[in-house]
Amino acid sequence: MALDAPSPRQQAAIDQADAWGAHTYAPLPVVLARGEGAVVHDIDGHRYLDCLAGYSAVNFGHGHPRLVAAATAQLNRVTLVSRAFHAEPYGPFVEALARLCGKEVVLPMNSGAEAVETAIKTARKWGYRVKGVPEGEARIIVMTGNFHGRTSTIISFSNDTEARAEYAPYMGGFVQVPFGDADALASAIDDRTVAVLVEPVQGEAGVIIPPAGYLRAVRELCTAHDVLMVADEIQSGLGRTGTTFACDLEGVVPDVYVLGKALGGGIMPVSAVVADRAVLGVFTPGSHGSTFGGNPLACAIGREVVELLGTGEMQDAARARGAQLRAGLAPLVERGWLTDLRQVGLWLGLDVHPDLGTGKQICERLLRRGLLAKDTHGTTIRLSPPLVVTAEQVDEIIDGVTAACAEAACAEAADAAGIG
Ligand SMILES: *Cc1c(COP(=O)(O)O)cnc(C)c1O
Repeated sequence: MALDAPSPRQQAAIDQADAWGAHTYAPLPVVLARGEGAVVHDIDGHRYLDCLAGYSAVNFGHGHPRLVAAATAQLNRVTLVSRAFHAEPYGPFVEALARLCGKEVVLPMNSGAEAVETAIKTARKWGYRVKGVPEGEARIIVMTGNFHGRTSTIISFSNDTEARAEYAPYMGGFVQVPFGDADALASAIDDRTVAVLVEPVQGEAGVIIPPAGYLRAVRELCTAHDVLMVADEIQSGLGRTGTTFACDLEGVVPDVYVLGKALGGGIMPVSAVVADRAVLGVFTPGSHGSTFGGNPLACAIGREVVELLGTGEMQDAARARGAQLRAGLAPLVERGWLTDLRQVGLWLGLDVHPDLGTGKQICERLLRRGLLAKDTHGTTIRLSPPLVVTAEQVDEIIDGVTAACAEAACAEAADAAGIG
């Protein structure tokens, strides 16, 4: 069981982090030391269930034996030669990933934001070269509530004020429409539109699932108007939704997949843009690149990730454990403790009733009960445990979330009665 307050040892580690590290995050007061599967331990040996999984970067669990074996084997061979030369693991990785996506070409990068940047560059070049948009005129349609990363270009088309404030001048060429509204998208497309950039399920926004038929409508509009459908599946892809890609939920194939997070197996930052030759063929040597993109270590891990997804076991587990978690938490909606509960695969957004406290306060209560989760946008808690979480562990999550809500409701009732 976790402690009520950090131990002196943990507090010292937290103080050191605060003193010497820039404050771009506000972490919960726990210092983690090791992990296995869905379980992590702090430096004092207390056990927690990881209900965030590194924002879905750790879909296959901490220290997955096959991923660790693939990484270790490659560590002992060669890790970086640069793209100035061919390296052994590159070919097998790009072929495997292209086949998983049903596409012809893979362009590996490192972080998710870099892959999104690469997709933006792809779409613009494709617009000028292939679609025939006059150079400098290309427009990319993006969605309200989007999260695509933190670069200066990407935050230019975010409507998260904190993520965007004081980083002007902003990059132009983006048009924002409401997420989930196909009619708004239809009216926004014009001759200069080269791409629609969409998260099939919005993760950072709080696991926002679009209305049924939306992705299909986006696909049809893109096809009809010769516009690239670019699916940012960095968080939604690679098993999380109970399918390999979230687009699969509606049987939709985008023109461009943008992948990251789980592609690196929680070991390395590995991202990629995947599309057909007609699209990624716009690049020529020198027109794009990355020192670390496609390095041997990343490729060895990425290839094993593709193998893990090949059997469908991870996707099945996401569906089964997700349904179990949803069923277990549904009574919290009936009790009024949650105002909404969204679920797709093993990915849940819980909107906590404001009377119970902020999402952060609930996460602090969860921490004391040995559950690590993250709030987003004030009152939403996102649950995305590793897909290898067991049925027993899911029961632990259900019990912990229920107890934390009950405790918060109790504290609120005591407050309202003027006690405590
Ligand atoms: C996390 C995320 C990104 C950015 O990935 P980084 O590796 O943090 O740069 C982009 N798009 C989506 C949908 C994400 O969830």
